[in-house]
Amino acid sequence: MKQAEKLLNLRRREMVETLQRYGIVNRRVLDAFLEVRRELFLEGDAADSAYIDSAYPIGFGQTISQPYTVAFMTALLVERCSSGRVLEIGTGSGYQAAILDALGYSVFTVERIFELYERAEKLFARLGLNIACRFGDGTLGWLDKAPFDGIMVTAGAPKEPESLLRQLAENGCLVIPVGGNDSQQMTVFLREGNDFKREVFQHFVFVPLVGREGWNDTVF
Ligand code: SAM
Repeated sequence: MKQAEKLLNLRRREMVETLQRYGIVNRRVLDAFLEVRRELFLEGDAADSAYIDSAYPIGFGQTISQPYTVAFMTALLVERCSSGRVLEIGTGSGYQAAILDALGYSVFTVERIFELYERAEKLFARLGLNIACRFGDGTLGWLDKAPFDGIMVTAGAPKEPESLLRQLAENGCLVIPVGGNDSQQMTVFLREGNDFKREVFQHFVFVPLVGREGWNDTVF
């Protein structure tokens, strides 16, 4: 193995140790973070710092989320729906979708910025990942492919989109940051028949979820 690759593997293990120190204990989640090479989802100088626990710009005013944030959301999902079909809203770099794929879910992902959608779809093909991609407004979900055992929204929403709640399978869960422009509270909705049990967690800062059931795009 080349020296550069060895160093990246070491950095990846160190990142996972950091996640453990921050309280991520789910073994399946930690193993997925050991498996997926984050440097492949970053470009230019950022790829050299792939294993620093930091968000990075990916162009078009968007970011790849901080590993801790990705791990926190993934653990919420895994602990409530451990397998099945998962829809991600906000493909961005593709890193979160690749983590879900490494966990063995059937992954569907929607992105509203065409260039990011196209870049991620090409990258998944190059890596041999079987992830279904769609360009469009993810606040409306992906009706043809519903229901989903899990839905994960990786952008900050003013409120949980009704369409996403409706596309959950029985006992399915929606993981979504909900709040204002400055910060959002990580929220989980668990479907029980026509009712949704709500759980709330800590605050994070996300780029906005822009769409018909999200923020109005004239605001951003
Ligand atoms: N999951 C991404 C990753 O692993 O890199 C993080 C993405 S970034 C924090 C949020 C993404 O959500 C951006 O790419 C943004 O364009 C996208 N987004 C915002 N509103 C959306 C919508 N209505 N439908 C689909 N994607 C949306």
